[in-house]
Amino acid sequence: MSVQISRGQVADAFVEKVESVSGQDLLACYQCGKCSAGCPMAKYMDILPNQMIRFAQLGLKDELLSSKAIWLCVSCQTCNTRCPKGVKIAEVFEAIRQVELRQRHDHLDFNALGEERLRGLPPIALIGAMRKFTS
Ligand code: SF4
Ligand code: SF4
Repeated sequence: MSVQISRGQVADAFVEKVESVSGQDLLACYQCGKCSAGCPMAKYMDILPNQMIRFAQLGLKDELLSSKAIWLCVSCQTCNTRCPKGVKIAEVFEAIRQVELRQRHDHLDFNALGEERLRGLPPIALIGAMRKFTS
């Protein structure tokens, strides 16, 4: 069953920030689940994409940021093409990561990987990881 949340039910600075950074209306989502059904990373996620949108609607920032899912999203945009409400879900998840990273809360400590391991990684992977996981 689809359940839509109204704006009067949510008043949260985190919700406003995510909407402002992503340019998306979070509350447009009515939880149909089509984004999760098409997500190639869903089987690895601890929270499904539609559930992450619901968490975001409710301002559950800590729960989102401590999930594996928000960092596992590869921004493939499959979900964007499937959403009947026109929510750009990938942009919402990118905004949530950005809100955290802009506070200089890196998700990955490259120094902790060690020099030998770093040297063995392809430069393109390192650059991509730096852009996604660090401020
Ligand atoms: S953008 Fe992220 S959430 Fe959307 S389908 Fe791709 S991996 Fe899944
Ligand atoms: S496809 Fe769109 S409306 Fe459906 S659950 Fe995902 S974000 Fe919400």
